[in-house]
Amino acid sequence: MAARVWVERFVTALGEHTEPLNRLDRLAGDGDFGTNMRSAVGQVAAKLAADNPTASDDVFTATSAAFLDTGGTSGPLLGMWFRGIARAASSSDILQLNELTRGVRAGTQTVQKLGGAQPGDRTMVDAMVPAVTALAAASDRHADLLVALTSAAKSTLVAAEDTAALRGRLGRSSYVGEHARGVIDPGALTIAIWFACGLDDWQQSPAISLLTASVTR
Ligand code: ADP
Ligand code: MG
Repeated sequence: MAARVWVERFVTALGEHTEPLNRLDRLAGDGDFGTNMRSAVGQVAAKLAADNPTASDDVFTATSAAFLDTGGTSGPLLGMWFRGIARAASSSDILQLNELTRGVRAGTQTVQKLGGAQPGDRTMVDAMVPAVTALAAASDRHADLLVALTSAAKSTLVAAEDTAALRGRLGRSSYVGEHARGVIDPGALTIAIWFACGLDDWQQSPAISLLTASVTR
């Protein structure tokens, strides 16, 4: 998978869905998640245009820096997640499955260390942990990257959908208690969108449809 293509799709996906992402956060938080993501991906796009990186490590370093520079809880945490991927990536334009697996694992560990979230707490970690499992299983089978991404896209989507049944324990969704039930966590859905963007049919992916069609369930 070409890192640059993947990141550019993610920039488009998040940039086009500010309102539904804000709405999810409004129902279970303070309503700025989509705006934070729009700001982050706007900075990613600006960095890609200015420096024109194509090497995977450079593309993910630029992505990480843009998210780290963004407000909200999600910006810095996603910035650290992408930093994990950047550190595992090589200078090749094409990201390999073993690099992705190592990077997602390291990034997820950092996010958990910094934010203190465990699966079940109704955060982006709910989708990050199954991504690590899916990628590691595919790596162990020596599957090709496309198969691994398909598996990660499916498991992160299921995990994101499942956050609707959870009560928040951390972050702003914990303040609204039962009111968050039935609402998908936007951070977890963003991880599912990230993996969907690794596939050619990302625009028709269930993760994007979930965002555009029904943001609650
Ligand atoms: P804020 O809550 O500061 O307004 P955002 O709206 O940008 O931040 O991000 C909210 C998202 O951040 C949530 O949907 C959740 O996925 C994620 N999140 C919140 N707290 C944590 C945490 N402690 N660890 C990991 N992710 C978290
Ligand atoms: Mg918010």
